[in-house]
Amino acid sequence: MAIWNLGSINIDHVYRLDHLPRPGETLAARSYVQGLGGKGANQSIAAAQAGAITHHIGAMGATDDWVVERLKNAGVCTADILRLPGQATGHAIILLDGKAENAIVIHPGANRAIAPSMLAKPLSAIKAQDTLLLQNETGCQVEAAKAARQVGARVIYSAAPFDIDAVRAVLPYVSILAMNAGEAEELFAAMPGDLPVMGLLITRGAEGAEYRDLTTGTVHRQEAFPVTPLDTTGAGDTFAGYFAAALDRGDPVPAALRLAAGAAALKVTRAGAGDAIPSLEEVIGFIS
Ligand code: ATP
Repeated sequence: MAIWNLGSINIDHVYRLDHLPRPGETLAARSYVQGLGGKGANQSIAAAQAGAITHHIGAMGATDDWVVERLKNAGVCTADILRLPGQATGHAIILLDGKAENAIVIHPGANRAIAPSMLAKPLSAIKAQDTLLLQNETGCQVEAAKAARQVGARVIYSAAPFDIDAVRAVLPYVSILAMNAGEAEELFAAMPGDLPVMGLLITRGAEGAEYRDLTTGTVHRQEAFPVTPLDTTGAGDTFAGYFAAALDRGDPVPAALRLAAGAAALKVTRAGAGDAIPSLEEVIGFIS
């Protein structure tokens, strides 16, 4: 059993400022931190930290080798990350004003340059017992989901950032649809009625999460672990990656939810995205 994740890789450039710049203003930052992010990379790190054999499928520029090293160090198999000359690695410029206000510019770069022909090798390696993870920050989700379902693999799709057209296109090939509360609200408004998936995973921040098994009608609820949040970036990705890894190793849904909630709670106590995802050992220590 293995997890394959077609997902984004972003470098986060985080600047702390006294205030957000006004049009035409030049500002010196108080501090600068560079970190690893992107929903895809975050979910791969979470799944690998949870103990799953995790293959990241993605693309980045020809430089930035430290990104690949960091993924490897987190336990992610990086052989299916394409290096595209002439493309920038996806990145986010994140401006923080110290009052919980932010402004973010994302350049998708290589993440959006992925073409179906580039994915033939990893997609043909997916087996029936495997899981494919997808989010909305790359191209080719539909091609990948189709290939995975064709061999009988589980497909877990995070509908984030929310895009109803992307959701409609990929949903026929999805086993589990994962969303936060806001995304779920938008989805239910746009697509009332039955959804053609086996399960819905809905996370609700400090209010916890639920998994609705649409094949049986059972709803499993999981409370959030009480923590003092420092930075919630990547909480949803940590949850999704840990949840997928737990299902992959055969955990029942309630145990998978509990492990994922523990991992996400620990993540929100730490600053950063991919670099702040806790290890399985830490999570087990925290929830036991
Ligand atoms: P993000 O976009 O910040 O990555 P998200 O909006 O996708 O997150 P959330 O629903 O906010 O996802 O959070 C995912 C999970 O993380 C929650 O279900 C919960 O288990 C955990 N979590 C988030 N915020 C908190 C918090 N303040 N305290 C404890 N757990 C939290």
